[in-house]
Amino acid sequence: MLLTRTINSFYNALLSLVYPQACSLCGGSVEDRCLGVACAQCWRETRTFTTTDIICWKCGALSLGTIVPEKRDQVRCRRCDGDAFTAARACGAYEGALRASVLALKREPHISQRLVSLLVETQERAPLDKATRVIPVPLHPDREKARGFNQAAVIGSELARAVRLPFDEVSLIRTVHSERHRAGMDAKGRRETVAEAFSVRYPRLIEDEHVLVVDDVFTTGATVSACAAALMACGAKEVLVLTIARPVNY
Ligand SMILES: [Zn+2]
Ligand SMILES: [Zn+2]
Repeated sequence: MLLTRTINSFYNALLSLVYPQACSLCGGSVEDRCLGVACAQCWRETRTFTTTDIICWKCGALSLGTIVPEKRDQVRCRRCDGDAFTAARACGAYEGALRASVLALKREPHISQRLVSLLVETQERAPLDKATRVIPVPLHPDREKARGFNQAAVIGSELARAVRLPFDEVSLIRTVHSERHRAGMDAKGRRETVAEAFSVRYPRLIEDEHVLVVDDVFTTGATVSACAAALMACGAKEVLVLTIARPVNY
């Protein structure tokens, strides 16, 4: 294992020397393939969330102020009260290297080792550590056909493999092609459009499971909340959410 890792990192370093890749943010060279589309400096400048951030324990929104560590799980923003998931977390802010990684994933079905490590770290923290099964937010089949892959499934399968959880791409399906109608819609309209968009094909597979729903970006939470509502209605014990990034409003 250690030997394989050593060989891999040697190979990656060698590849970067022979075929230097430009950082998609600053144009500098990416020192190591493990970093993906951004260089080490741009990764350092990108905000990733830690256990010391004060966040809404349910939706993961950053909150100002201070709190004693024992009460961290009592913080709520209240804006997410109506959402059907138990808790949502992101690896970091939708900026810099994380934003570049999300955009790259829309073109290529690949995520970097750096990103896999961040996903693993976030999943291993409470309350996401209770997850028993990984399910990606499904794309409508027409859209998946046009793109060639579902980016949430790429994230989900890499994470599931790294943390040794079952990866389930069959239980949850998308039934309405909602994205097309979204432009210009307010948050309420968007929520109603996605509300009927998901259904569970194999309820037996998700019964009593702590499902971890995975997507690229958490914006309003409407999409993952609709997934959670469908999963909860079919017997899931709880629905946790993990995304690469979320916009942060300071
Ligand atoms: Zn850079
Ligand atoms: Zn919240």
